[in-house]
Amino acid sequence: MHRMIETLPAADACRDGHAARLMQDLRGPHFGGGLYVECPCCRGNTCAQREMAISNWSRINGRPVPKAHVAAVRRVG
Ligand SMILES: [Zn+2]
Repeated sequence: MHRMIETLPAADACRDGHAARLMQDLRGPHFGGGLYVECPCCRGNTCAQREMAISNWSRINGRPVPKAHVAAVRRVG
């Protein structure tokens, strides 16, 4: 079961220009649940943290990871 959390800014669109959406997989973390970013053509890895999901999305779309996201990931460890 999935639900949409938010639509990401245009700067986070995929390589093909699709708007990206932050989604939540409502299953427990041990059953593949968590947050991920997707568009009509691709989907990022499921991560426990919003910042990690967006960072993963940026990487797979060949975009530098926003500094704020990197800082957040480091803080999480
Ligand atoms: Zn796309």
